[in-house]
Amino acid sequence: MKTNNLGYPRIGSNRELKKASELYWAGQLSAEELLAVGKNIRKENWQLQAESGIDLIPSNDFSFYDQVLDLTLTLGAIPERYNDFAKTNSSIDLYFAMARGSQKKGQDVVAMEMTKWFDTNYHYIVPEFTKNQKFTLFSEKIINEFKEANDLGIATKPVLIGPISYLLLGKEKEEGFHRIDLIESLLPVYFEIFKKLEAENATYIQLDEPFLALNLTDKERNVFTKVYTEINNRFPNIKIILANYFDCFGENLATALALPVDTLHLDLVRCPLQLDDILESKQLSPNANLSLGLVDGRNIWKNDFKNSLAIIEKAVTALGENRILIAPSCSLIHSPCDLELETNNETLTPEIKQWLAFAKQKIQEVVLLKQFATKEIDTINSIQFAENNLANENRKTSKLIHNESVKNRVANIAAGDDKRKNTFAIRREKQIDALNLPLFPTTTIGSFPQTPEVRSWRAKFKKGELTQQQYDDLIKKETEETIRFQEETGIDVLVHGEFERNDMVEYFGEQLAGFTFTKNGWVQSYGSRCVKPPVIYGDVSRPKPMTVKWSKYAQSLTSKWLKGMLTGPVTILQWSFVRNDQPRSQTCTQIALAIRDEVVDLEDAGIKIIQIDEPAIREGLPLRKEEWATYLDWAVKAFRISASGVKDDTQIHTHMCYSEFNDIIQNIADMDADVITIECSRSQMELLDAFADFKYPNEIGPGVYDIHSPRVPSSQEMVKLLEKASAVIPVNQLWVNPDCGLKTRHWDETKKALIEMVAAAQEMRAAV
Ligand code: GLN
Ligand code: ZN
Repeated sequence: MKTNNLGYPRIGSNRELKKASELYWAGQLSAEELLAVGKNIRKENWQLQAESGIDLIPSNDFSFYDQVLDLTLTLGAIPERYNDFAKTNSSIDLYFAMARGSQKKGQDVVAMEMTKWFDTNYHYIVPEFTKNQKFTLFSEKIINEFKEANDLGIATKPVLIGPISYLLLGKEKEEGFHRIDLIESLLPVYFEIFKKLEAENATYIQLDEPFLALNLTDKERNVFTKVYTEINNRFPNIKIILANYFDCFGENLATALALPVDTLHLDLVRCPLQLDDILESKQLSPNANLSLGLVDGRNIWKNDFKNSLAIIEKAVTALGENRILIAPSCSLIHSPCDLELETNNETLTPEIKQWLAFAKQKIQEVVLLKQFATKEIDTINSIQFAENNLANENRKTSKLIHNESVKNRVANIAAGDDKRKNTFAIRREKQIDALNLPLFPTTTIGSFPQTPEVRSWRAKFKKGELTQQQYDDLIKKETEETIRFQEETGIDVLVHGEFERNDMVEYFGEQLAGFTFTKNGWVQSYGSRCVKPPVIYGDVSRPKPMTVKWSKYAQSLTSKWLKGMLTGPVTILQWSFVRNDQPRSQTCTQIALAIRDEVVDLEDAGIKIIQIDEPAIREGLPLRKEEWATYLDWAVKAFRISASGVKDDTQIHTHMCYSEFNDIIQNIADMDADVITIECSRSQMELLDAFADFKYPNEIGPGVYDIHSPRVPSSQEMVKLLEKASAVIPVNQLWVNPDCGLKTRHWDETKKALIEMVAAAQEMRAAV
C-alpha cells in the first residue's frame, strides 16, 4: 500500500507567493527574487510531504499563476497576439501578460480569458485554439521541477493535466473544427515530455483527466481509449496515474476501467459509492491499482478514520494491499495550508478546531490511514485514532451546531415566500416612476479599491490600535470621497464602495451565527488572489442588521440613488467551507432567510435599489447534467427567498461573473432579479448572446470593461461593446457597468476607466 498526494497548496503557508508576485508586478522585486520565492515554496512542500511519509509526492503542481496556463506555455499554445510581446520580453513576463494583460513600454496586450475550474472557486486561464493550432515544447517547467526535486533527494511524481482534459478546457477561436480534433498534433508534445521525464528516471506520471467525471460524447470517450492505449504502447515503463476527481465516472466508468493505466484515482468523498460499483463490476484490469481519494481535498473537516478504514478494508479484501493507494480526494490546492497556524484565534474555539484538518494535517491523515490499514500502527493503542474518534463523536452532538428556531423557520417557509408581489412588467413601471433613471444608466458592481491604507485600518482596528469610532470615521471618510467621485464622474446609481468589507462573503459570515473564521486559512482563487472562506459549522441566523448602517450613511450623502450591496445565499454557501452533516440545500435556505431579513431592513431604511450578488450560482452546478435540475431548483429558490420580501418599486439587482449562461438562462430568468449585471468584456459580449436568444425580459448590464486587468480601456472600445449589446438587447433594457467589483484595482486606473465608461454611456444616449 502506498500514499499518494495529487497536489499541494503553492501559495505558501503565509501567502509568500502572493506577496512576492504582487511586488514583482509593482516593479519592487526582481525576477530572480520572485523565482527564488517559488523555489523555496516547492522545496518546503516537497520536504514536508517526504518527512510526513507520502510515497508519491507531486511535482509540477507548483505554479506562479495557474497550472492550465503553465501547460499552455509548456505546449507552446501561445495566441498570436502575444508574438510581438514575446520577442521583447522575458518568458515570465510573457506568462504574466497572458494571465493579466500588460500595458507597458508602449506594448498593449489583453489577457486571455479566465474561467472557473470545474465546480470550484479556483479560476484557470482558458487555452485558445485555432484550426491549425501548432504545439511545440516551449517550456520545460515540468522537467526542471522534477530535476529540482531530485537534486533535493526527493523522487517525485510529475503531475500534468491529461491531453484530453487540456483540450476540453480550452476554446475554439475560429469556426470549422472541434478542439478535440487537435489531439493528433498535441500528443507528440506530451510524448516528448514523457521521453524527457523518463530520461530523468521518472517512474510515475500523474495525468489529471477530470473530464472523466463529466458527460462526454461517444467521440470524446473513444479518444480516451485511443490516447491512453497509445501512451501505454509507447511508454510501457512509465506508471500512469490517471486522476479523476470532483465526481464519479458515471457512464464513462467502463471506458475508464478498461484504460491501460497503472492506477486509477477515485474521488471517494464526492462519490463514495463508486468503489462498490468498481469492485462489483470486476472490470478493473488485474494489473491496475486504485488510489482511494478518502481525505477531503475540498473541505476542512477532519477525516472520519473509522469510516475510511472500513472503505479501505473493502478495497483490500477485493484487490489486496499492494494494489491500493491512499490519497486525498483531489489536489489540496483547494484546502488551506496549516491548521497549526490558527493560534490566537478567538472565533475558532478549541471545540470547533478539533473538528478540522487543513492540507498539512490532511497529509498526516493520509499517512495515518495507511499505517492503520496495514497494521503498522494498531488502532487500539493509537492516540491519534482515539482523538479522531472523539472529535467526530463530539461534532455529531455538539450544542454549538443546533438551533431549533432556525430549523423551525426553514420548515415553515410559506408558498409565496419565494415570489415578488407582482410580475416584472408591473414592477418595472413602478420602478421607472420611482427611480427616474436615464437610458443606459451607469453603475458599478459595488467595491472600490481596497487600498493598502484601507486594509491597514482594518488590521489596526482588529489589533485594538484603532477604536470602533476611529475606524468607522476613516471608513466614512473613504466612503464620502467615493460618493463624491461617483457624483463628479456622473455615475447614475452609486455604491458606497464596500470599504468596511474584507471580503464579500467573510464580511457577512462574521455577522451571522453558525459561522467561524480562520486567521490564515487562505485558498488560491486566481493568480495572486486568495480567499479565506468562512467555516459554516452550525445552523445559520442573523442576530442583527449587517449592512444597513453603511448604506444608510452613504445614501444620506447624496441625492442620487445609492445601491445597497449584499452577497446572496448561494454565493455565501459556495464560497464557504460548508458543514457536511446536512444537505447543502438546507444550509443555503437558512442563509437565504438571514439575507431576506437584511433586504427588508435596507428597504425600511430608505434604500430603493438593492443588489444581491450571486456570482457563484453557476459554479455550484453539479458536474453531471442529471443532477442540475435539483441543484438549480433549490439554489434559485434560495435567491428568490432572499429577494422577495420587498415592495414592487424596490429594485433588486443581482450580479454574476465569469459565467457561461447558455444552459442555465431559464433558471437565471427564474431568479427574476429586476436587473442583472454580468461579466462580458473579455468574451467581447459573446456571453450576452444567451440572454438575447432567450429574449431575457428583465434589465441587464453587460460588463463593458475587464476589471481583472490594470489596463484602462478607451470610451471608444466600450462604445463598440455597447453597440454590439444594443444590436441584440433592446436599449431600454441595458445598463452600463464594469465586469465586476473594483476592489483589486488602483484608484488612478479606476478613475480613468470610469470616466471613459460614463463617456461611452453618454455617447450611446446621444445616438438613440
Ligand atoms: N459586490 C461585489 C464587489 O463589487 C461583487 C464581487 C463579485 O462578484 N465577485 O466586489
Ligand atoms: Zn463579479
